[in-house]
Amino acid sequence: MDGSVGPMRVLVTGGSGLVGRAIERVVKKEGEEREGEEWIFLSSKEANLMSAEETRAAFEKHRPTHVIHLAAMVGGLFRNMRQNLDFWRNNVFINDNVLQAAHEFGVVKVVSCLSTCIFPDKTTYPIDETMIHNGPPHESNFGYAFAKRMIDVQNRAYFQQYGLRYTAVIPTNVFGPHDNFNIEDGHVLPGLIHKTYLAKKEGKPLQVWGSGRALRQFIYSLDLARLFLWVLREYDEVEPIILSVGEEDELTVKDAVDAVVEAFGFEGEVIYDTSKSDGQIKKTANNAKLRKYLPDFKFTPFKQAVKETCDWFAANYDTARK
Ligand code: NAP
Ligand code: GDP
Repeated sequence: MDGSVGPMRVLVTGGSGLVGRAIERVVKKEGEEREGEEWIFLSSKEANLMSAEETRAAFEKHRPTHVIHLAAMVGGLFRNMRQNLDFWRNNVFINDNVLQAAHEFGVVKVVSCLSTCIFPDKTTYPIDETMIHNGPPHESNFGYAFAKRMIDVQNRAYFQQYGLRYTAVIPTNVFGPHDNFNIEDGHVLPGLIHKTYLAKKEGKPLQVWGSGRALRQFIYSLDLARLFLWVLREYDEVEPIILSVGEEDELTVKDAVDAVVEAFGFEGEVIYDTSKSDGQIKKTANNAKLRKYLPDFKFTPFKQAVKETCDWFAANYDTARK
């Protein structure tokens, strides 16, 4: 535990999203909820966190002692390329509103969420936690990247001025049930899952965007949820921590395509549209810090996690976000 006394009331912003729903499942359905913990999962319907007033009202109502801050404008490569300004402004407002409300309402710990796609584009590999501010991010998502980097700046400043231990985690590409499966706006795996599902149903080829050669480390939302619980309860640094599978588990986009094709038993043609962007060619992250703390943590095998996500999407097609 982090040394605080009394019951722990955890407010999860973005509680209705991919990562929020995974944390909810691990906490509520898989018996990870501990005695003395109360969990509140917030969605944008209850409070628009772009508004400082609505944010304060949510903190006033729930009076959290701890916050997991997930709420953000989130999207895949192609949405980022179209909307850098929106990603910057929305995320800067949301983050400042949440962190400042946490401070004003006496929250002892906040765990916010960065991403490995905010690191400098021109860098040495593997990337580690010390390199966040070492140069401009990839041009495709500079709005999102700079907004996220400012969370780290703000966390350091809360520590310097008030001694608060607000921290952040840095996950790689997340996927799982309750993802945003919108083809135009979403990330690569949910996009591929939706497209493969439709290609199979309609007997059409699967269109993959880009060459398939870009490298990514994928993390299953339920694994990430378990790691979030550990960070909330045990991790005591202000410095962020990368939550990732190892460098040896980095895959090409083509590997991801193959896993989805196999999970659906898709037998049609697969076309790589090289007129579309590959985005950042790699952003290989090092998980040595995580491994120092949790040497035995077991990640779900990639193919199994992809299969579970494809099955979930097919079973929930009518109601899934798409
Ligand atoms: P998501 O599924 O799109 O969920 C986003 C969440 O943010 C939703 O619960 C949404 O609420 C909420 N939200 C958005 N705008 C809001 C607003 N103005 N006011 C209140 N709530 C708002 O995204 P996710 O993948 O779970 O992402 C969670 C966190 O992980 C984010 O901070 C993201 O940057 C980070 N992350 C994601 C990935 C990835 O690959 N997905 C990788 C690295 C880091 P409603 O649905 O109720 O509108
Ligand atoms: P990123 O990891 O932040 O770049 O974002 P994404 O999760 O959107 O992954 C983008 C990578 O997947 C690029 O190399 C794209 O060329 C490739 N890709 C292939 N097919 C798709 C697709 O259907 N949707 C998306 N978003 N990316 C795709």
